Amino acid sequence: MIISVSGLRGIAGEDLTDELIFKYTHAFGNFCNNGKVVVGRDTRPSGEMVKRSCFKGLLSAGCEVVDLGILPTPSILFSTKELRADGGISITASHNPIEWNGLKFVNSKGLFLNKKEYEKFERMVKETKVFPVCLKATKSIGKPIDRHIKKILSLEYLDIPALKKRRFKVIIDTCNGAGYEIGPKLLQKLGCEVIRMNCNPFEPFPRPPEPNLENLMALKRRVIKENADVGFGLDPDGDRLAVCSKKDFPLGEEYTVVLAASLILGKKKGCVVTNLSTTKLIDDVATEKGASVIRTRVGEANVVEAILKNKAIIGGEGNGGVILPDVHLTRDASTGMALILQYILERRESIENILDKFPKYYIVKKKISIKTDRVLRLGRLKEKFGGAEINEEDGLKFSWKDSWVHIRKSGTEPIMRIIAEAKTEKEAQSLIKQVQSYLNLAPRD
Ligand code: MG
Repeated sequence: MIISVSGLRGIAGEDLTDELIFKYTHAFGNFCNNGKVVVGRDTRPSGEMVKRSCFKGLLSAGCEVVDLGILPTPSILFSTKELRADGGISITASHNPIEWNGLKFVNSKGLFLNKKEYEKFERMVKETKVFPVCLKATKSIGKPIDRHIKKILSLEYLDIPALKKRRFKVIIDTCNGAGYEIGPKLLQKLGCEVIRMNCNPFEPFPRPPEPNLENLMALKRRVIKENADVGFGLDPDGDRLAVCSKKDFPLGEEYTVVLAASLILGKKKGCVVTNLSTTKLIDDVATEKGASVIRTRVGEANVVEAILKNKAIIGGEGNGGVILPDVHLTRDASTGMALILQYILERRESIENILDKFPKYYIVKKKISIKTDRVLRLGRLKEKFGGAEINEEDGLKFSWKDSWVHIRKSGTEPIMRIIAEAKTEKEAQSLIKQVQSYLNLAPRD
């Protein structure tokens, strides 16, 4: 069971029990001043059960509960603001395996709780005694995906008539997740010929749910077979997006935010916000347009906070998360797809050619299981990489001119992440190996 600023995550029924969900959601109802709370979920088999536990907690706190049904996380955040709710809950374990589930908590602005809000909420969880009060009924309002689509289609950056004329052939693989409806519907509105892959919310996840290119080999084969313009792979709660082409390119899902930012930076002046673990390619793209890149700790809430503070025009994370403030301050695969199609349209060349023209970097991402009692003493690495620029905001990041390595503890799983990027794959692998052997860590995969 993982309890963090990202919310709760665990195996449904085992760690994530009815009792625990009740306790947290009752306290969350109080945190939202016992007002209106919207609740949506992804397609996991435990989703309906977890949802009922949430309803119990919220109703017992006197909240007005709005049931949004199966809905991507970005649409839930968008709707929390649109429906003027006092809070929201997204029931999902994002890219974790199907037996997991979790709760992500949203404030009245439609943003994930920031650290300060989360600390207040945690105190309330500890202190709150359950007093069931004025039970209200649960309301169902259908799925608010049309408003979300309308907002995306209203973006000044998109040339809808030209997109319709271009009629892109697109394959979308939603992992049978919550994006199964909004994804294809949006693509159709953008004039695409849409081929649906894994868009059945009643079927189990057909592949490992993390949208990285290793897990999207079937999508790639389909893109080749159908001679499609592009393939889009989503995670089960529809916030992360990977762009799949007919050829392999070394940065995988890291290209998503780079492509989206390339479009926006060409149209508007302003800065980009991304996390410390995202590809250097984003710096190259921004420098070319005379824009700056602001780096934050890993995690959507950190990126969003910096976007607000710096009035950035676009942001996101290298894991496939595009955040466009003009739509809503959250990672959104739907927004990402629209921006990337517009970018391909304007470049008047294939996605393969576009990716091929970017400077080449290789990124290697490693996960290491760690025992909770193990003291890692990361600080020792500073002796090893003495000549590097050091950033200590989130774990440790060592940067050189054309390469970097970032070592940090995951906020959502009991693992250590080591990510390295360099001009060659060998160099990136070597950085990872040096860290592993220096810290005496055995690889998990
Ligand atoms: Mg996700």
